[in-house]
Amino acid sequence: MSVSRPAFVFVRHRGNRESGALMMKKTIFTTVAVIPAAGSGIRMKSGRPKQFLSLAGRPILAVTLTHFQDCKDIDGVVLVAPPGDVTYCRKHIVEAFEFTKVEKVVPGGKRRQDSVRLGIEATEGRYGRVLIHDGVRPVIDQGLLKRVLDAAGTHRAVIAALPAKETVKEVDDRREVVRTHERHRIWMVQTPQVFRYPDILKAHNMAVTQGWEDATDDAFLVERLGIPVMVVEGSERNIKVTTPHDLELARFLLPA
Ligand code: C5P
Repeated sequence: MSVSRPAFVFVRHRGNRESGALMMKKTIFTTVAVIPAAGSGIRMKSGRPKQFLSLAGRPILAVTLTHFQDCKDIDGVVLVAPPGDVTYCRKHIVEAFEFTKVEKVVPGGKRRQDSVRLGIEATEGRYGRVLIHDGVRPVIDQGLLKRVLDAAGTHRAVIAALPAKETVKEVDDRREVVRTHERHRIWMVQTPQVFRYPDILKAHNMAVTQGWEDATDDAFLVERLGIPVMVVEGSERNIKVTTPHDLELARFLLPA
């Protein structure tokens, strides 16, 4: 599917400087969702990558993609699949469930970081913003998508996260506590995460050239460029299906 809308649509200003009112700049962007789903799911111990296991009568990945197909503010989707499952994803996920917004299915890389970079590159700069969401977080909802996309209208980088419920301690290699963090400052990070296209492309390119290998989320790479990252409230239901226990929980949250 080709998208004819320009990456940047228009800029709306609210208030004005002369009157002393706060100047709020709101830029409306076109948005592509990059869905990394190229993991092998070793922790699930199922023999098949977890994104293809059944949830509410459909593969987990199809459940996730439905939210993006249904979101009016998502203009296109790039799906990143395990290299050996690209054709399977095209036929049995994208075509079978008529995900018309999925314009490309591309093979992923060794690490999540590689898969996301390949997905971003596949968008070829045709969208102003890139929303990244794990293929194995199927219980995302339209409210959360709206919260992150609304915030991304006024902030350059936005991530969903939840305030920590437990106290977080940092330990050394021997597991001895070296620090106790102030709980009210600790947030547990989820996806979706939304970035301006040039920022996230630059962050991932820098990761390659500088050998930044420890990124467990994309925002970490953007933070390293000195770009402010804003947190919006995620959702308790937006779990990442990693273990058999997570799958049970997802089946409870989304019954067939
Ligand atoms: O492994 P992890 O739980 O962090 O995976 C989060 C998401 O990243 C999953 O949807 C998984 O399929 C994806 N992933 C990927 N490429 C990899 C590893 C993970 O697209 N090499």
